[in-house]
Amino acid sequence: MSAGPPTRPRKLAVFGGGLGSLSAVFALTELPGWRERFDITVYQIGWRLGGKARSGRNLRAHARNEALGHHVWYGWYDNAFALARRVYAETRRAPGAPLATFKEAFKPCDHLLLGTGDRTDRTPPWKMSLPRGDSLPGDGAAQPSVWHFAQTLLLWAIDCIPRLHPQYATWSAIVPRWPDASRSLWPALMRRAGGQGVRAYDGFDPQRPDYDDLLRRAAAAVHGEDAPKTSRQRRAWAQPLTHCGEHSLRSLVGLGARQTHPQFTTMVDLALATVRGILHDGLDRAGFSAIDDQDLRAWLRRHGASEEALASTVLVALYADHMSYESGDAERPAAAAGALLRAALRRYLAFSGALYYIPAAGLGEVLFAPLYRLLRDRGVHFRFFHKLKHLCPDPKQPAVSAAVVGRQIELAPGVEEYEPLIKVKGLPCWPSRPLYSQIVLGDDPVIQAIDFEANESPEVEEVVLRAGVDFDDIILGIPPPALAGAARELAARDPRWEALLEHTHSIAAMGAQLWLSPTWAQLLGGPAQAGAGGIVRTELPRWVNLSTAAAYEGWPREHWPGAIASLSGPRPDRSADGSREPVRDIAETWLKSHPRALWPEASLAGADEFNWELLLDPQGRAAEHRLAAQHCWATQNASDRQIVTLPGDPRHRLAAGDSGFRNLWLAGDWVGGGLDLACAEGAVMAGLQAARAVSGDAIVIHGERDCIDSD
Ligand SMILES: Cc1cc2nc3c(=O)[nH]c(=O)nc-3n(C[C@H](O)[C@H](O)[C@H](O)COP(=O)(O)OP(=O)(O)OC[C@H]3O[C@@H](n4cnc5c(N)ncnc54)[C@H](O)[C@@H]3O)c2cc1C
Repeated sequence: MSAGPPTRPRKLAVFGGGLGSLSAVFALTELPGWRERFDITVYQIGWRLGGKARSGRNLRAHARNEALGHHVWYGWYDNAFALARRVYAETRRAPGAPLATFKEAFKPCDHLLLGTGDRTDRTPPWKMSLPRGDSLPGDGAAQPSVWHFAQTLLLWAIDCIPRLHPQYATWSAIVPRWPDASRSLWPALMRRAGGQGVRAYDGFDPQRPDYDDLLRRAAAAVHGEDAPKTSRQRRAWAQPLTHCGEHSLRSLVGLGARQTHPQFTTMVDLALATVRGILHDGLDRAGFSAIDDQDLRAWLRRHGASEEALASTVLVALYADHMSYESGDAERPAAAAGALLRAALRRYLAFSGALYYIPAAGLGEVLFAPLYRLLRDRGVHFRFFHKLKHLCPDPKQPAVSAAVVGRQIELAPGVEEYEPLIKVKGLPCWPSRPLYSQIVLGDDPVIQAIDFEANESPEVEEVVLRAGVDFDDIILGIPPPALAGAARELAARDPRWEALLEHTHSIAAMGAQLWLSPTWAQLLGGPAQAGAGGIVRTELPRWVNLSTAAAYEGWPREHWPGAIASLSGPRPDRSADGSREPVRDIAETWLKSHPRALWPEASLAGADEFNWELLLDPQGRAAEHRLAAQHCWATQNASDRQIVTLPGDPRHRLAAGDSGFRNLWLAGDWVGGGLDLACAEGAVMAGLQAARAVSGDAIVIHGERDCIDSD
């Protein structure tokens, strides 16, 4: 911790107002007596907070909410939900006010629907539903240990196997189908377990085997007094079961299980490979990060997953969810195995409340507007239209001596401070464009043509902030893809910064937000259970039902949207000739090619063609021209590129409190030492780590480390 001058609070300059840095500011301003300790100013490029998760109301299109894609928060995002719940608890909106409570703001969902864009694929879409728990995410529930994940998967696989084939529904029917050599090895594994003090297999008689009783007892043995206690015992307990799972699965696949239960067979296949990998690579003692140099799919293959499981919709969708591709190319999926596996296991096996939550409107109004107001009321200063241009290292010591900032606008006469929020139906929201009336020359088309969120945007003045005068410490919340210029001198000084900038990979994203006249249930021809999912192997593989947002938008009755959908995906890097297909064309092709993939009732009667009339267009355009009334977007600025964690990347990340410069702290989903995966929870976790490092206070961060068994 750097020591600020003793006579005044430490001045913190926070660059960037995304989820990472705002979480840091929120945590610091939760500390008792924080105002005596810190004087905090947030410098934000452009007119709004939220970064990649921002959203804004388009005042020229019925105040509809427009965002860079949709944001789904999974039930395991304990730190992110704790933040959101604290914001709602403190904001105390009046009952009946829009989005008055946390429960109104985040809608729980238990079902995921994963399909493919392949018209020849006759297999039904994957419907995954997981039972809801009583708790709410954000309560700080302890994360299961890595061993616990392995044990849960193994027991689940053993439980499922007798249900994979109707003619082989008991272990007594399945085990005799194994090859003789595998069956004769099994008792030896059990004896070895007994030698390690594992009592689960005691009493098994290979001459008169009762396999069903054996497996019942082996499963029950993980609870109670006979539970394996040491690492050796856990392995000794697991080995006969993984052996059993592996040979049973292989036999049942040979007997046609993949045809009768393709999805369960795949899940069991992946579960067993994961268990084998965890045990073989000692992740229960080392944590998931130990395999971050490998790609997840390659790691699963190494541990015995079949090619069918590796190509399965569920695994393809996992990569698609995190847009984990090299250069945005869906043909080149790649992901650090530990980071993605940790997130997947927490997602499905360690969520609180529901599997996932969808913000009831844009995250701008659901989270960032109330958070901004709360922080401002607490006494945090905000400087909108201030972009960081350059961080200058001190020539004599490892510290930042100055920060060069570009002020982007001149405030109109009489405007003391830019007021960024508007109200739509009583709800504080961010506009999708600056509020030009507060800006000098704001009605000038030249000013209105400027993208104030771009680093290349012009400025009216360069301001130099000096260490010891204007700031004592910096919290840097700007992601590396946007730091090439600003952190240039840091990289020249410190090779770790050079490596960080070089090895933080990112991809552009694109998508289409569609407003449709029918309700989602009408489009489906049945009740709408799933709120999100994937249509894998298409250009826009993620979808979310955002229909709840309509109630907070300003549509007149005659143009009321029954449904709002968001489709999104990676935007491949430019082709060699520099050309790129416009997103609107991609959305048009998507709707033409996969008319039934998402909504069975969205095609013209008797034809396999999307019914364009379903798209809402107040101007009444014809056919595909109605796409002009939708929001087709692509990330334009370096800062908006999704960070991806390719194999090996985590090695080059810097921790929040280890920037190498004693007054520089890092906050964002690109920071190391947490999840190492870009998502809301990763950003919040890094923000909390930055707050802990800056303050030296023992700020609690849930799930920060993998829970491991050290013996
Ligand atoms: C299309 C898309 C969909 C996503 N969907 C999900 C999802 O469903 N669930 C999920 O958990 N995560 C999702 N994510 C990831 C999630 O949005 C991010 O992990 C998170 O928002 C990152 O927050 P951050 O604070 O690290 O960075 P950012 O949000 O990038 O914040 C950086 C901040 O710095 C500001 N800034 C940039 N340059 C400057 C400058 N020069 N000067 C001053 N300020 C500057 C930016 O404007 C921004 O406010 C998605 C990301 C994308 C791109």
